[in-house]
Amino acid sequence: TYPIDVGAIREDFPILDRMVGGDIETPGEGEGDTQPLVYLDNAATSHTPEPVVDSIADYYRGYNSNVHRGIHHLSQEASVAYEAAHDRVAEFIGASGREEVVFTKNTTEAMNLVAYAWGLAELGPGDTVVLTEMEHHASLVTWQQIAKRTGADIEFIRVDDEGRLDMDHAAALIDDSTEMVSVVHVSNVLGTITPAAELAEMAHAHDAYIFVDGAQSAPTRPVDVEAIDADFFAFSGHKMLGPTGIGVLYGKEHLLEAMDPYLYGGEMIRSVTYEDSTWEDLPWKFEAGTPVIAQGIALHAAIDYLDDIGMQNVRAHEDHLAEYAYNRLAGFDDVEVYGPPGDERGGLVAFNLAGVHAHDLSSILNDHGVAIRAGDHCTQPLHDKLGVPASTRASFYIYNTREEIDALVDAVDDARQLFA
Ligand code: PMP
Repeated sequence: TYPIDVGAIREDFPILDRMVGGDIETPGEGEGDTQPLVYLDNAATSHTPEPVVDSIADYYRGYNSNVHRGIHHLSQEASVAYEAAHDRVAEFIGASGREEVVFTKNTTEAMNLVAYAWGLAELGPGDTVVLTEMEHHASLVTWQQIAKRTGADIEFIRVDDEGRLDMDHAAALIDDSTEMVSVVHVSNVLGTITPAAELAEMAHAHDAYIFVDGAQSAPTRPVDVEAIDADFFAFSGHKMLGPTGIGVLYGKEHLLEAMDPYLYGGEMIRSVTYEDSTWEDLPWKFEAGTPVIAQGIALHAAIDYLDDIGMQNVRAHEDHLAEYAYNRLAGFDDVEVYGPPGDERGGLVAFNLAGVHAHDLSSILNDHGVAIRAGDHCTQPLHDKLGVPASTRASFYIYNTREEIDALVDAVDDARQLFA
């Protein structure tokens, strides 16, 4: 039997039933919207099921209040729920507890937190940070700028012609000058799955740390940070059925303990005088100001929803759709698909139609109601390496079907005829 009941899941996502194509000045379905939506832009952001929407409404209707410091009843309810969300995230990724789970705005902020709080203090001339050639700008630009400020060097592990990470090159690059290895777990363009545990072992053998960018992995497959032995791991709630405005930084407790805060202010201090201050316990030391309360509580609901399906089953469905889409698109001799074969990738496929700019292709797809993304997907240097300015990317999630991939392929075929 098929691992998940896509039909039942889709009932929790009313947005999937909407029509598109008409006036875009007023958001929400309107008169000119006549094309059924085929949503294949999940690597950019996923949709939000009813129980997650309800958790946000329940919070604002029932117990909205600022957390931590309140003695009053609502504040205590909000605090209990907000803190429980950290525990739930810890359980979801195999962390030992809430002290290793910092809520941020998104993956990007989690990266910046470590780059500023750890990198500025620890990096200097002669040190290297090792990245891959397929880093998202969230990682690439952040480490690049911190390296400029500290005098450290950046090195890039090669991606081979099939889109796989060159592990011999990794072994050659990671040496005693390496202080940090920061790698994308699942590439948001190539779909490549990085052997994170192996890279962690290489890093640790040289007393370096590893930061794993889980923006595309945590939503789509079981993740165990302790099994990987990741020092840091980051992901975004909005790519895994949660709301925008919530991300997670996981860090090993002793590392977070040793790091200075990244942002200063209320809610992160223990005591303050006019001269000096001391910091709250983890993770609150890294959550300055009023935190992402509603978003954190909603992330808890999103994780419950995913765990009810089972992350192994989510992965099986992603694998199935990725392989199907890869094989169908690669079947056109004028379509180039990037990255490793269909059975070795995350649930996304980036491609180009020969002679047609990705933006023109995506505009034709949009006329068919098919929502995909065109551009460099925050990986300009990788696109330079691929020799194209942009690509078109379809990305899948728990509610997508083979029929939707057929709709994509039919629309691509129409574009082929149109531009032929
Ligand atoms: N890393 C990867 C691999 C991503 O795909 C993304 C999202 N496109 C990010 C980092 C950044 O995520 P966010 O925009 O939520 O910070």
